[in-house]
Amino acid sequence: PQPVLAVVGRPNVGKSTLVNRIIGRREAVVQDVPGVTRDRVAYDALWNGRRFTVVDTGGWEPGVTGLQGSVAAQAEYAMSTSDAVLLVVDAAVGATAAEEAVAKVLRRSKKPVLLAANKVDDDRLLAETASLWTLGLGEPRPVSALHGRSSGDLLDAIVDAL
Ligand code: GDP
Ligand code: MG
Repeated sequence: PQPVLAVVGRPNVGKSTLVNRIIGRREAVVQDVPGVTRDRVAYDALWNGRRFTVVDTGGWEPGVTGLQGSVAAQAEYAMSTSDAVLLVVDAAVGATAAEEAVAKVLRRSKKPVLLAANKVDDDRLLAETASLWTLGLGEPRPVSALHGRSSGDLLDAIVDAL
């Protein structure tokens, strides 16, 4: 069985767009409306001759525990069902209470955790990217899922981690 990467993060940070970038196809549904429900979907990916499965964890709506609790539960579940977790943050928004909650869960992970600062379409958001070091999840990696900027570097890090 091939290794599994789970992609987690708040609604609308660009998880599905990034998953499409990772798989090189447009199968994950990108939603302009935040929080539109979509189930977990697994896709096959291939990079540098390495095959892996990437799971797009859409469909996590704020429930009784609120968005923070919901995303933390998502991270918990992702950690237990994958070989590595990719946390996606919207660099323009930065780390919210939801990201703090997720990071707290992910810092306990014995599996590799990668941190992507998405929507870095140009250099203007690089400073915001650096501020994500405070999440305690290692190096924040700037990427633009929409334009593909630095997605190759992120994929190199992903296959290294798996
Ligand atoms: P998800 O809810 O986390 O899966 O987010 P989506 O992939 O559905 O994207 C949410 C919105 O963010 C869509 O309008 C995307 O086009 C937009 N988006 C995703 N990645 C980027 C990016 O790198 N740059 C910009 N500017 N917009 C992005
Ligand atoms: Mg999505």
